[in-house]
Amino acid sequence: MNYNIALLKGDGIGPEIVASAVKVLDKIGEKYGHTFNFTDYLIGGIAIDTKGEGLPKETVEGCLAADSVILGAVGGPKWDTLPGDKRPEKALLGIRSALGLFTNLRPAKLYPALKDASPLRTDIVEKGFDIMMVRELTGGIYFGERGRRQGKYGEEAYDTEAYSVMEIERIARVAFETAMKRSKRVISVDKANVLESSRLWRETVHRIAKDYPEVECTDMLVDNTAMQIVRNPAQFDVVVTSNMFGDILSDEASQITGSIGMLASASLGDNTRGLYEPIHGSAPDIAGQNKANPIATILSAAMMLRYSFSLTEEADCIEEAVNKVLEKGYRTADLCGDSGATPLSCTEITERILEEI
Ligand code: NAD
Repeated sequence: MNYNIALLKGDGIGPEIVASAVKVLDKIGEKYGHTFNFTDYLIGGIAIDTKGEGLPKETVEGCLAADSVILGAVGGPKWDTLPGDKRPEKALLGIRSALGLFTNLRPAKLYPALKDASPLRTDIVEKGFDIMMVRELTGGIYFGERGRRQGKYGEEAYDTEAYSVMEIERIARVAFETAMKRSKRVISVDKANVLESSRLWRETVHRIAKDYPEVECTDMLVDNTAMQIVRNPAQFDVVVTSNMFGDILSDEASQITGSIGMLASASLGDNTRGLYEPIHGSAPDIAGQNKANPIATILSAAMMLRYSFSLTEEADCIEEAVNKVLEKGYRTADLCGDSGATPLSCTEITERILEEI
């Protein structure tokens, strides 16, 4: 098969880590007989410097015309003094909205070889965990009506959590479809004991669940979920939740894996085109030094194969290669900790992964 991929390398370590993902995809193409055609488009600070705006029109058009999109990271100190709506990070919201992306998938998986990096107690991490957070991305309180007004005690501010049945239905379907490709368990997180929007959420999720009789669907209140993620993360598989709850819980879940350089993400919409990116930023402190850990971006490319192109075997192959490299003790500087391992550069660890593929 032939796939056209838009590359948004962005700023800081973006170009280095995206280059690693491209090498891995080329190797997968060679092994399984696919051709990946890559086209670069500007985004973020580099786009501001060259084109005068963080998200040029040709970038949006290029991404819309592509089969899928891989993004490095944007931002850096050079652009930190720009006003909020002119900053490189604004381009991220722009591209997500232009591509109609309403789902954010964030895996939080503990690699056994890295379990010492987790801040959780050994007896908890011993059991391992592999959580897939499915976060609604375009509704809820971040997009609801807001304002300031005079209240009983003087000036007050308000933000509104509102969800339509349509928005809940479509994110629930993504969660159940995702669960069908995993262990067929969904935990739906809400605050239905207090919030009306959560009661509609719960009702709707359970109605959609009837279309997926093989999937076990249970509810969990958000406050309990926050506790359970650190108490017993092994109990979770697919977790589906609203925009704000997902924002908070996905950061919590990512931190218990212990390593920001390992965490991939996917943003998906109505069609198979997705935006795949590491969860970390542009790491300006190590940019241009060949020190960055490219694994989050490589695993994001694996997610692209799995979720946009349904290339399951190819995606598994990348994930297994990463696992083997870690099992053999290879580490980039961010993963070394007190292990005494000699840090490999971004290109060296990429080579090790290519060898395993
Ligand atoms: P960051 O994630 O860039 O870096 C935090 C720390 O983690 C740094 O010490 C960095 O060196 C390290 N780190 C991050 N990724 C790494 C990797 N792959 N390998 C090794 N070490 C890694 O967060 P920050 O420093 O708060 O932000 C830097 C810039 O990135 C800011 O301009 C911020 O706005 C931007 N940012 C962009 C995105 C994005 O593009 N999606 C996300 C978050 C932050």
